This record gives sequence, C-alpha cells and structure tokens, in this order.
Amino acid sequence: MYSRLLVAFLLVPLAALAAGPVAPATAFDPGTIDGSVDPCVDFYQYACNNWVAQHPLPPDRSRYARFTELSERNENVLLEILRRDAEAKAAAGSAVQKLGDEFNSCMNTAAIDRQGLAPLQPELDRIGAIAGHHDIFDEVVRLHLIGVPAFFEFDSQADFKNSTRTVANLQQGGLSLPDRDYYLKTDTKSVEIRQRFVEHVAKMLALSGEPVDAAKAHAQMVLDLETILARNSTDRVAMRNPLERYHWMTRAALASLAPFDWDAYFKAMHAPDFDALNVSNPDFLHGAEAGIFDRPLEAFRAYFAFHLLHRYAELVSETFENENFDFWDRYLTGAHEPRPREFRCVQAVDRGLGDLLGQQYIEAAFGPDAKRQIAELVDQLEKAMGQDIQTLDWMTADTKKAALAKLALITNNVGYPKKWRDYSAVAIVPGDYLGNGLRIARAAVERSLDKIGKPTDKAEWRMTTPTVNAFYSQAFNSINFPAGILQPPFFDPHRDMALNYGAIGGVIGHEMTHGFDDQGRKYDGGGNLRDWWTPADGAAFEKRTACIADQYSAFTAVGDMKINGRLTLGENTADNGGARIAYMAMENALHGNRSTIAGYTPEQRFFLGFAQVWCMNQAPQEARQRALTDPHSPGRFRAIGTLENMPEFQQAFSCKVGQPMVSPNACRAW
Ligand SMILES: [Zn+2]
Repeated sequence: MYSRLLVAFLLVPLAALAAGPVAPATAFDPGTIDGSVDPCVDFYQYACNNWVAQHPLPPDRSRYARFTELSERNENVLLEILRRDAEAKAAAGSAVQKLGDEFNSCMNTAAIDRQGLAPLQPELDRIGAIAGHHDIFDEVVRLHLIGVPAFFEFDSQADFKNSTRTVANLQQGGLSLPDRDYYLKTDTKSVEIRQRFVEHVAKMLALSGEPVDAAKAHAQMVLDLETILARNSTDRVAMRNPLERYHWMTRAALASLAPFDWDAYFKAMHAPDFDALNVSNPDFLHGAEAGIFDRPLEAFRAYFAFHLLHRYAELVSETFENENFDFWDRYLTGAHEPRPREFRCVQAVDRGLGDLLGQQYIEAAFGPDAKRQIAELVDQLEKAMGQDIQTLDWMTADTKKAALAKLALITNNVGYPKKWRDYSAVAIVPGDYLGNGLRIARAAVERSLDKIGKPTDKAEWRMTTPTVNAFYSQAFNSINFPAGILQPPFFDPHRDMALNYGAIGGVIGHEMTHGFDDQGRKYDGGGNLRDWWTPADGAAFEKRTACIADQYSAFTAVGDMKINGRLTLGENTADNGGARIAYMAMENALHGNRSTIAGYTPEQRFFLGFAQVWCMNQAPQEARQRALTDPHSPGRFRAIGTLENMPEFQQAFSCKVGQPMVSPNACRAW
C-alpha cells in the first residue's frame, strides 16, 4: 500500500528488484560521454546520449533507465534463488517452502487457468446479491479484509504529533485511475482515457460472466461513482502538506462527520479498540458519502465486482491478465508486451513475501564490506550537511541549532532491516496461486491494524531489501538504503570514488535532505509534526523553495505538459541538497588531491556520476502518467535542474554566464 510517511528516491514499483552479487568493477569510462555535446549547453545529453542511443526501449518496458539495468541484474539473482527453493523439498511452513511454492504456483499457468475465478466466485455471488445498504456495508468490510480498498482506506500509522505510538487512520481512496485529475480534466486525452477505462471495466465484468450489454451499462456506473469520489478527493499537491492530512478526532466526531456504522466497521475489521483516530480527509468522507448515497444498488454491485477483479486480475486466468495488461500497461503507459512470466513471478514473490526473500538475497548478494563502506559514506555526508547548515547565510542561529539537532537524530539504516517480518500466519499452498494471494493480502491487513494503539516499531522498513530505491521516513526520522541500490551504477567499491560520491553520495544526500524539504521540515528530530523554525527563517525557506518550484515548472515533461513544480518540490529540493552535500563530502575526502583520470578532474567525474544515474528512455504515455502523478521530475531534469543551480558544476566545466547550464536565477535552499 502507498505509504504517506515515506519519501522514496525513485518512483519505481516497490516490487522492482535489485542488485547482483558479482557486479563488474567499473572504472571511470570516458567512452560513456558524448563529446559532440557542449556540457555547458546540455549536460544530460553530454552524459547520457551514448547510453540512451545504446538502450532503446525494450518491447516489455514503458521505461528503461540505468537503474532498470540494475533491477534486471538483481532479478536474475532472485530468480536463481527462487528456482533453487522451488526444487528443494523443504519442511512445510519453512521459508524455503513458502518461497518455492509461491514461485511455483505463480509459474503454474495450467493450474491458474484451470482454477480461474473459482476462489473469488463466492465473493462475486455475494456482491451480485446485494439487496440493501446493510449489504453494502458488509461488502466494504469483506473487501477491505482482503486488501481491496473500496471507497476509502483504513490502516495504521505513527501518530503525526506523537510518533512513538501507532494510531488508526482513515483516508480517501476508492479510485481506479492513477489520480483524481483523470476523472475531472476535460482535455481530449483525459476524455479518451475515461472512455477507454469504461471499455476496460466492461470487458472485465463481461469476462466474469456478465452479459456484454449489461457489463457496458455497469461500467459507466463505475466511472460515475468513482467520479464522485474523485470530486471529493484532495489533490496531490495539497496532500503534500501533513497538516492537511492530520485531523485527530473522537469516534463520536467521526460518526457525525459521515453517518456510516463505524463502530460495527472497526469491530468487523478486527481492529483493536480505540477512542480516537486520525481522519486524513474529513471532507472526502463527508462529501463522498453524501454524493454516493442515492446511487442505485446496481452501481455498487458493479463497483465492488470490478474492484475485486481489478485487485486480483494478475492472479486469475490469462484472459484477465491480458485484458489488464492491455489497458493499464499497453494503453496507459506504452509497453508493448508483458515482461517474461518468470520475472513477473519474481516480483510477485518479492511483493508478497519480501522479507523472506530478502533474507536469502542478503546471503547471496550483500556482504559486511559494502555495509561498512556505505555506513562510512553516510557519516561523511552527515558531517557535510552539518557544515552546510552552519554556513547558510539565510538562516538564523536558533533555527540552525534546531536543524543540527534534527540532523544528529537521523537514524541510518543500511542494507536490510534489523528485524525481519514474520510470515508464520501465511499458509502458502502449492498450486493455489489466487488462494495464496488472498491469504497474503489478509495477513497484511491484519498486521497493519494490529499495530493500532501499540508503541511504534521504528525498526520497521517499508521497502524490501532487493529494491533499487531508498527512502526517508518522516515519522521515524530515518534514512534507509536497501541492499538493492548499493550496486553499480550507484556504488562500486572498486571504482573511481568520485563517481561513487556523485551517484550513491547523491542518493544519500537526497534522503538526508528529505528531512528538511517542504514536508520534512515540518517534523522534528523525534519524527513529530512540530514547528521548530523561527517565522522569519520559515518564510526565507518558503521563498527559496518557491524559486525551485518555479524553475522546474518551466521544464516540459512531455508534449505540451509541463512539470508540476509544486508536486515535485520535495524531490527537487532533495536532489539539489543531495548533490551539494555529496560534493562537499567529496571535497573533504579529497584533501586537495585533484588527480585526473583520462583528463577529467574529480569534480567533473563527480557530476558525471551524478547525472549518469538518470539516463533513461521512456514511452510518451509513461511520461504523461508520471507528469500527473509522480513527485519526481523526469530523469533529464533531475540532472539538469540540479546542476544549473550549482556554481561548483559551472566551475568544474568552465561554463560561462549566458550558457544554458548556468541559471541566471540559481535557486538554493540547502
Ligand atoms: Zn526522494
């Protein structure tokens, strides 16, 4: 589930996988550079043109980037692990049995096709028999218990204002398309997407056995119902403000806000008892309930049936899988064919049983040396960030003191979690892929709700170990680097260190800066929502980040769509801060040793390492979807936007005022 307390480095699906055990040592290779481009005119082209030309989009991808190469290497490691597990005759209930049988059951398409919808049929029948409002209530519960987020979402999270305790949380939800804007915008493309969505819903309903004409009418009702939810949903930019998502209220206040039988709902969800909870979006609960109340029962039946089919489409027969691919991947993001089944199964196991797989992955692919080296780098970066804060000319002493106190309290997690998730409650049955999926989903819901009212476990991770990504947690004030990302092109202990500072150093600095971006700055060192800024310093920060928002808003994402500088503000701030901190750390470590490699100074190699992480190809459909939903800017602008703000970059390449890589209005927060 999407976590609201987590700021990731890349928006790759959390199932994306990670690093190989023996990555080839890569020295600095000047052959990666396109010498025909002036680095002061377009540094992304200078650093990435050759890679981009050599890596056209494969037919099974809508985006292919340098970190995708890393994912692929790691998928192969995981595939080897799972094939071995699948052949082992391991004791029932052991990790090897669960991993092996889950992988096998995913690969066994004959059994999946034979089983078809059978495990979902009782639920579909119940939905088809909905005869009144009480049945609707029952169905919301039944779907929520198996991870289908119909109408709204209920889970647990650290209390924003007292992060040591975990509380119940209700928030907006229930949409199928990637964002509320897909339902509300009136441009030609948005209208077309909605039309195609209705066709897709109709096909899914028809595949489940509805007559085609009825399915078409019902599909339109699904869109209408979701449009009401969308109209009442808070938009992504507003959701960035934690204060917009914090509404602490008693259960009595909730009952008067939206007259749903909440007491019965919480009980049926088996949530531990509580008196008060956070309601992320009170306006949504109030408005959506009023808006959908008079819809015909038929609309509810169609909505529930589609959401159930949608959630489990990849676990039932190939016909559902293909229809799902046609709409969500081929049409919406531009991929031409599905990824090979074995890799989809690797990803499915990582999604479902990630900490079991992660333990085996660590054994195969991550040693104490890498952990130690990264921990050292993190220390250096932390010192550099301390220097950076102390020398800021726009921040007064009091706020600096508070910022340094928060920095000192950041927890650094490298490689893998201290405590692994327990899956003993999840039975994995050979040849029952859909049944396994239902049990995994149910256990995940129980696990989340069980935490309500308990002390927050800050040792928890929100990403699996093989993931090529990193994250900062606001509530935990922690930076986290899964083993999956600690590999080339991000990190290689045997290569030129300037490249490492630019690449993994940039990632580490990025995550640290998230503690001080537009969202992170609102939390203190204990992970609590608390304003520790003097009003003047807060205003100065807002002015500086407004500069960054305006800068990126001028960049074109795709076609006539610009980047949303407010949606991407936190990530862009983190990219800018991260590059500077990593650069300072490298300069500290060089001690004036500026020896060149193939004529390139350490500073030049640093900026190449920083930018080359972002080389990518992507389909225009993918770019469009990301422009509307991804808080990260496209790779090209993560490189260019950051570097055109940095005098250090301009000095390294002798860029002159007036050249494109020298911003006339350079922005800087950190
Ligand atoms: Zn980030």
